[in-house]
Amino acid sequence: MSLQGHNTLLWAILVGALAGIFCGWHFGHAMESVAWIGKLFLDLLMLTIIPLIVAAVITGITGLGDVRKLGRLGGFTVLYYLSTTAIAVLVGLVIVNIMQPGIGISELNEAIPDKVAGKEAVGIAEMIGSLIKPNLVAAAAETQLLPIILFCLFFGAALTTIGEKGKVVINFFDGLNDVMMKLVIWIMYLSPIGIFALVASKLGATGGGEEFLAEISSVGKYIATVIIGLTIHAVILFTILITFSKRGRDYLFDMLRALVTAFGTASSAATLPLTMECAVEAGVDKRAVKFVLPLGATVNMDGTALYEAVAVMFIAQAYGIHMGVEEQIIIFITATLAAIGAAAIPSAGLITMLIVLTAVDLPKEGIGLLLAIDWFLDRIRTTVNVWGDSVGAAVLERVIPD
Ligand code: ASP
Repeated sequence: MSLQGHNTLLWAILVGALAGIFCGWHFGHAMESVAWIGKLFLDLLMLTIIPLIVAAVITGITGLGDVRKLGRLGGFTVLYYLSTTAIAVLVGLVIVNIMQPGIGISELNEAIPDKVAGKEAVGIAEMIGSLIKPNLVAAAAETQLLPIILFCLFFGAALTTIGEKGKVVINFFDGLNDVMMKLVIWIMYLSPIGIFALVASKLGATGGGEEFLAEISSVGKYIATVIIGLTIHAVILFTILITFSKRGRDYLFDMLRALVTAFGTASSAATLPLTMECAVEAGVDKRAVKFVLPLGATVNMDGTALYEAVAVMFIAQAYGIHMGVEEQIIIFITATLAAIGAAAIPSAGLITMLIVLTAVDLPKEGIGLLLAIDWFLDRIRTTVNVWGDSVGAAVLERVIPD
């Protein structure tokens, strides 16, 4: 796409998002009538992810040419993701201890919310076990991306070892990757209207602006704590990290279409095709884009990690349960794991929060305090998740030897 086309589309997407907020705010429930358009857009994006991820990861790995290079990139990627996620949790813990948003909350919930009722916190063994699936087609049908990425990683590595015969397979996946990226560009033209519909219908479903404000007024300080934490993490950490990359400050602008889509869809997975497209257009090494971004969308969730730490501390404060240093260390470790384990779909963080709540013996009912506002905070944390992945790709392209 030309630079001018790129800018026009970006403006159209921004206008779509703002118009969505305006219409959802003023017309309330009436805007639920456009929800189907948003769903259509989301489904179109989701439709591309499995073939895109398969083709991208396989050609990304084979493009590295040599298994040792893969080891180096893989090692740095895991290190980078773990450390930035841990830093996000730390930022969250510091802010929530300073702002104490849960003190004075009086309307405590008695019932376990439907969303988490019947769900149990997953253990580490289950988390590791879920990396391998006996049936790849079933994993694809359930959009479980991590087992598919891992399979493609080994498939790609094996392809580089079988010489001539491997070339035809690599060419096939190379073509498939280009076709999928072309489809993504076509879908992107629909994003202004898709994002408009998603935002307008979601805000409209709360009953419009006035009702939304009334609903959130009791947890205003909590919302402020989450947003301040996410902003600090996104701005300061990434401003520092981006200086270690080959990208300039305008990288944020280059990635803006993906970031607004993340806000609109509340799903890192649905946004992934656009994140990849924007990163390629911004000039990031394709091998980093194809490997770092799919993996990042599934495991690297800085926004979710920070959010989980803040939310759990908020619940403890609201119930008047003191969390000492020892408990906060447990929160630090489990929130990092819970973010890694969260699926890249809307509200997934709420479910994996059970891991953290259970680890420090807090009541599951506490999640009820967060429900009314989760759809909104989910959009903001997903935007930070996608920004974290994007910066990751820009930084990690440096570790790929020529
Ligand atoms: N919606 C988030 C994402 O897709 C996950 C979450 O925090 O719920 O990145």
